[in-house]
Amino acid sequence: MKPLRTILALAAAMSFSAGFIPADEKAVNPQIRKIVDQVSEDRIKAIIEKLVSFGTRSTMSNQDDPVRGIGAARLWIFDQFKSYSPRLQVRFDKYRVKKQGQRIFKDVDLYNVIAVLPGAKMPETQVLVSGHYDSLNLGNRPAGGAAAGPGTDAPPVPIGERPQPTLEESEKNAALPAPGACDDGSGTAAVMELARVMSQYVFDKTLVFVAFAGEEQGLIGSSLLAAKSHLEKQVIEAVLNNDIIGTDVSGNGRTGNTSVSVYSDETADSPSQQLARYTREIAERYIPSMKVNTVFLGDRLGRGGDHTPFQWEGYGAVRLSTPNEIYANQHRVTDTLENMSVPYTARVARVNAAVAASLALAPRAPIVMREPRAPAAAGAPTAAGTAPAVPAAPQTAAAPAPPRRPSPTISRGRSGYDALLQWKPAGPDDNIKGYTIVIRATTSPYWEQEIYVGKVTEYTLKDVSIDDAKFGVKAIGNDGGESLVSAYVYPPRLKTEILTVQ
Ligand SMILES: [Zn+2]
Repeated sequence: MKPLRTILALAAAMSFSAGFIPADEKAVNPQIRKIVDQVSEDRIKAIIEKLVSFGTRSTMSNQDDPVRGIGAARLWIFDQFKSYSPRLQVRFDKYRVKKQGQRIFKDVDLYNVIAVLPGAKMPETQVLVSGHYDSLNLGNRPAGGAAAGPGTDAPPVPIGERPQPTLEESEKNAALPAPGACDDGSGTAAVMELARVMSQYVFDKTLVFVAFAGEEQGLIGSSLLAAKSHLEKQVIEAVLNNDIIGTDVSGNGRTGNTSVSVYSDETADSPSQQLARYTREIAERYIPSMKVNTVFLGDRLGRGGDHTPFQWEGYGAVRLSTPNEIYANQHRVTDTLENMSVPYTARVARVNAAVAASLALAPRAPIVMREPRAPAAAGAPTAAGTAPAVPAAPQTAAAPAPPRRPSPTISRGRSGYDALLQWKPAGPDDNIKGYTIVIRATTSPYWEQEIYVGKVTEYTLKDVSIDDAKFGVKAIGNDGGESLVSAYVYPPRLKTEILTVQ
């Protein structure tokens, strides 16, 4: 945000009558502060040590061995979740996945491990914190996204030209040691440590801690859970996915333990980008020594993670990842505790704690989209505040009249030259103190100006053009907690068929 000076200057210039939140009143909630401080490096280390001790956590490894393989690992994670608090509802999210491709070379049981901490005031609204507990050893195949063979300086394998393992190799690899300390023991440990710390507190929204399986076979566990959540109309406000948060010196020697990359997507003002901005602002408020790099890309180029399936289903989701990877250790027997930095993992876990706790205690984001007037066709967007604004699917000739396209509740007002912003609370508003309008240049990545306008549901910015800036609104809770921003986004104009007489 710009300095207070700028905000006041803007206010004076526009003759606002409403009050403002001075920058120094940006809420730092003592409870969230405490949660962040309670994240324990020692516990994270102990969790990763234990995860590594299962030898391999490959989804295709032996599921029946009591001490080795993914079966033993998931039982241990389940029991750990259970031990943290009786208020955590722990379950396996189980699927039987059919043999497909080379990576799932036989029908396999797949278990995500889930711990739910029900919210006290808005239990239907969920905030997910996730990582994947499965690991992989690729044998002699190139590792990571840009790595060559182990310990070589051979040129990287171009993205898209990586050779697929044969069936025989896959079978062999499933039995190899795959410690997966950093990928993704680090993310799993962060999820488990947050479940332990946060289950000692009460939140307004429901927190869901997920350890995914099948990530290394193609985001299998997350895809299945995301699709099921969408089908069941689950309200997931945010997904904070942690994958490879365990190294702070990259393979080429670049160092930096004071930053984390947050990948969202490339669609301007998407729910995922709003979540990325929120992550940056909240994390840097509670942990000023950490910088959040918001990367407006879906992931590292040509590579994937468990946040993406949630984006496919319309949810806001981001990936937290180190900017300093060591490709030579990924999917190798050398992905060990000795080759990673537990203090760095703890720092990223604290980022998660601050953001997840803030979201879970804050109001829901206001609704800024008009409900479609005609009956919604299949695939048309819902009016839910957290649902993304996607254009309705093109209609075929045989389909009924298309529904009116959703549009944001922003206009030029009665004068035609003002910015009239309107919104609705996403539910009961007794926990809302008021609303803050945010503004930025269309070329700016971050909101630049904030105006607290009190508990109203519309506001006019006199002589402000809606045509050359981005606008949004967020709800402020009674304790100062901030919701995600709902941005006023017009769906793209659809191509129209022009009839000609010939
Ligand atoms: Zn991973």
